[in-house]
Amino acid sequence: MTTLSRRAFLAALGGLAALGPASASGAEPDLFALTGAVVPGDGSPALPDHAVLVRGERIQAVLPAGSLDREIPVLHSGGFILPGVINCHVHRIHDAGERRERYLRHGVTAIGDAASPLPALAALTRNPTGTTATAACAGPMFCPPGGYPLPVHSPDHGLAVTSPLQAREKVRELADLGATMVKLAFEPGPYPNPWPLLDPGTAAAIADQAHRLGMVVRCHVQDLSGLAPALDAGADVIDHVPHRWMTPQGPRPVLEPDERTPIPQYRTLLERMKRNNVIMVPTLDVLTRSLWNGPSLSAPVRAFHAMGGRMGLGNDFPYRRTDAGMPVREMRLLHAAGPDRSDVLAAATSGSARACGFKKRGRIAPGMAADLLVVEGDPLTGFAALERPTLVIKDGRVVDRA
Ligand SMILES: [Zn+2]
Repeated sequence: MTTLSRRAFLAALGGLAALGPASASGAEPDLFALTGAVVPGDGSPALPDHAVLVRGERIQAVLPAGSLDREIPVLHSGGFILPGVINCHVHRIHDAGERRERYLRHGVTAIGDAASPLPALAALTRNPTGTTATAACAGPMFCPPGGYPLPVHSPDHGLAVTSPLQAREKVRELADLGATMVKLAFEPGPYPNPWPLLDPGTAAAIADQAHRLGMVVRCHVQDLSGLAPALDAGADVIDHVPHRWMTPQGPRPVLEPDERTPIPQYRTLLERMKRNNVIMVPTLDVLTRSLWNGPSLSAPVRAFHAMGGRMGLGNDFPYRRTDAGMPVREMRLLHAAGPDRSDVLAAATSGSARACGFKKRGRIAPGMAADLLVVEGDPLTGFAALERPTLVIKDGRVVDRA
């Protein structure tokens, strides 16, 4: 095993010298290794003193560091190696250059744009290898005429449809423009007069057409009354944790009087989500900045996690002054709600990858994209370690973090 001198390491980072056969970028050897404690990203335990072997854009192998071929250059030794973090629910940053500055340089190697105006798709679908945070994108949110998001966001954030036939056409158009996900709104709003919801036939047609085209079906649900219709339609992901319940008789609590347990109707739906592998993306960072902050956010997350439900991690940047960069506040809030740090990291990597439809990202395993972070502190004892990664690698290339 050859460990690079500090000079050679810095030279490699700066792209000044190639070590061994150079990759297309000229900065990294075509084959290199990182050694340290490997956090695979699927919730399984860390592997101490292991090597991650990278060839070109992909991870070739994960093996005990001692069995690494001595000829293979080691780009960095020590610390913790984990998959790049994926923030699966964001908005507003579309351009590849901006995604590089605001996400990739901080260790967020991919994002899910969870609804944006149609013209944004051109920028979101441009993902040059190794130089930006890869984007999955949904385009505007499906809704009925007059439905959310139309009453509160700019009209180009919504895509109003009136029939199953028209809905299928619109899904095909989005796919042709490069969208890899669809987003459906199930939002009656917090007011006495509810906004309209998609009728069941139209909602199911959107989801069915999306599935036929290999797209992920994401559903915005904040009011409990939207959860059953979203699941009936065929949701793959529930975005936001449902935390309020408006009825014709007025608001009703979503928790038992102990404020720790979701009401039975809610528990039944959470169990259905778990059974059908529906992912929850709680977005606690944004919701805790609202007047709903409290147990109605954390208790359903805890209950769903305790059932074995899978989660993704997203913070709904930029709403309510949430930040881009490493989403540590979302991680801490998720951890405080119940999941241990290993499960939170799994949500932020493999869980988010599933929520975005990234089949080759979010885990450290042979054949996966080499989207990697090296951090000095143990992220399983504190997320602060993630705020200053030593090294960010995207598609096998070292990201210049200067
Ligand atoms: Zn959002």
